[in-house]
Amino acid sequence: MEPAGLEPAEMEPAREAEEPPGSPALPAEAPQGGPPAAALSGEGALPGRERERERGRRGAGAPGSAGRAARGRARRAPGRRSGTESARRPGVTVDSSKAKTSLEALKISLRQLRWKEFPFGRRLPCDIYWHGVSFHDSNIFSGQVNKFPETHAIVTMARQWHNYCIRFKSQKMFSFIDSSDQSAFPAGMTETVRKITLSRAMRTMRDLFPLEYNFYPRSWILPEELPLFVAEVRTMKDSNPSWKPTFIVKPDGGCQGDGIYLIKDPSDIRLTGSIQSRPAVVQEYICKPLLVDKLKFDIRLYVLLKSLEPLEIYIAKDGLSRFCTEPYQEPTLKNLHQVFMHLTNYSLNIHSGNFIHSASANTGSKRTFSSILCRLSSRGADVKKLWSDIISLVIKTIIALTPELKVYYQSDIPAGKPGPTCFQILGFDILLMKDLKPVLLEVNANPSMRIEHEQELSPGVFENVPSPVDEKVKVAVIRDTLRLVDPQKKKRKDTQCQSPEQAPGASEEPPDAAPSPEAALPSLCLKQVFPKYARHFSYLRLVDRVAALFIRFLGVKGTTKLGPTGFRTFIRNCKLSNSNFSMAAVDILYIDITRRWNSMGIDHKESGSPGMCLQAFVEAFFCLAQKKYKALPLHKQVLSLLELCECRLAALHGKRLVWGCGLAQPRGALRAAGTAPGPGPARPHGPQVLRLQKSSHQLRALMCRDRTGS
Ligand code: ADP
Repeated sequence: MEPAGLEPAEMEPAREAEEPPGSPALPAEAPQGGPPAAALSGEGALPGRERERERGRRGAGAPGSAGRAARGRARRAPGRRSGTESARRPGVTVDSSKAKTSLEALKISLRQLRWKEFPFGRRLPCDIYWHGVSFHDSNIFSGQVNKFPETHAIVTMARQWHNYCIRFKSQKMFSFIDSSDQSAFPAGMTETVRKITLSRAMRTMRDLFPLEYNFYPRSWILPEELPLFVAEVRTMKDSNPSWKPTFIVKPDGGCQGDGIYLIKDPSDIRLTGSIQSRPAVVQEYICKPLLVDKLKFDIRLYVLLKSLEPLEIYIAKDGLSRFCTEPYQEPTLKNLHQVFMHLTNYSLNIHSGNFIHSASANTGSKRTFSSILCRLSSRGADVKKLWSDIISLVIKTIIALTPELKVYYQSDIPAGKPGPTCFQILGFDILLMKDLKPVLLEVNANPSMRIEHEQELSPGVFENVPSPVDEKVKVAVIRDTLRLVDPQKKKRKDTQCQSPEQAPGASEEPPDAAPSPEAALPSLCLKQVFPKYARHFSYLRLVDRVAALFIRFLGVKGTTKLGPTGFRTFIRNCKLSNSNFSMAAVDILYIDITRRWNSMGIDHKESGSPGMCLQAFVEAFFCLAQKKYKALPLHKQVLSLLELCECRLAALHGKRLVWGCGLAQPRGALRAAGTAPGPGPARPHGPQVLRLQKSSHQLRALMCRDRTGS
């Protein structure tokens, strides 16, 4: 089912001042009244941007002219005090000491918001901690962090990869890798969005909902699925002899096009030793991408995962389009190796003599996405439908990723333990096919937020020069992310909720407060898409519910793997074992699946701990569902088993509540059994909680009636 009407009108492209030269490779259609009216209000809305950029580059201490300009522009309500009051308003405090390459964009954002920056950290807690890469800082107990936490193993892996990049760079093997850019190696919520993990998550969702998850190219994981890859390609070729596919091989955990190559036949895979130590994903290559000016390009869209529980997703109205630097031709044996023709990576193409740096948003090798939409729209393309498809792709992808993220999150910041709340900006790389269908290429946990690029002044002499296109898009994303997580706004809202007697329409501000800098800012560039469109997508969240069961039975906080006892307890409490499925069979299922998953992929080996990871549990759950509900399609099998398990656990929980009243069963015993209500993010989301509570209440009432004999 494809939800209709997802496209908020505000997501149409802005009218561009000048039309770029050339024309996109769209079916030639007469322009239909030009692009839709401007709705994007980006950086252009702030006058004095150039001056601000200049000052921004001068470093942390430079006074922000945008801040001053904003103060000057902000209209003051009559009777309000000015100047000194503004200084007295307790500003939001932001620790930027770990912002790394996002620092410049962050500084500009903070000046626009008039928030207080602590560039060297602060002894007292800050409201917000801005990290350039991953977050694994056990010293942060409060506030908000712009990254979801990592396990130690992942951070170590990221460091190893970083060192690997530096080593090869020093050997001039991958000279394009910018090791100073921390986004050049995997970190952040790395695990969840690494190529292999993403491919697995998408495969699981595609197994459940084949039509809904057809926006991700068919993929196989190497080396473990090499025989499957070979067999499937052979079958497809046999059934359609005219099919002449191309495949793209991408090393896991790679970035910036590193190690990527194209092949025409499975036998061309380079089965060197490195594929064992560094697995890869092989993927169907999209041979007919949409071209603009005869060039292949991809889109980098910024997505804010504002909260995991409840799920809150925002999409930026503008993104970047990164262009190849050689005219595109469909892949042939002759051009397969031409990276400037086939790979859109900025970090690769910048080394091409054809790369065009442009200060304009709609020309050059890096443009705004809105400028592309504008061109498409002027040629009659259905831009609203395109946005709707992109929103759908983003929500579905995040639904595929959240189960694993929740497992990591509960292990790092268990409920009850003091810790910050987290949000994260993700970079979605999307390719448009000729028919405008968006295809997901990858999700970046740490999209580069640099707003300048290196320019070679003379051989070997480089200088950082500002990139207006990057600045336009990225500053808006960072600033508006901060506006959305503004802790003071939340406090103001809470206070308002507590004083309902306040007259409707009364000012949000206390009478003596200085005017908010919000008044001078453009409208938010980030648009909420979830829960806004939740009703269209909630039915897809089955694996999320399986993950909730998994977390519930993990037992000891801080782990991400389920032990054999936890698995047995799950089976027992959900009453899944019977004469056809003995506890011995349960143990065999556990051992079989766990052993296989632990022998696959470097991620599980690296974490070093034995036990069943989430994906293995999901596989076991699907197995059980297939066994129990043979005749149904997979998603119905899984849904039926989920409902059965949730219902039985609720009943058990209800029983224990009643026993707890009468027999005072120790709470610790319940928790050990994995059924205690106890704290933790393991609780299922909204409607389920209600359902569970309702059924436990009903059960309690029934049992009380039993006891009293009524
Ligand atoms: P990396 O993380 O190394 O950048 P990507 O998955 O983003 O790896 O792939 C690099 C580039 O290769 C993309 O920017 C895109 O231009 C191209 N590419 C990747 N996958 C495909 C695909 N399935 N079909 C066509 N082009 C692809």
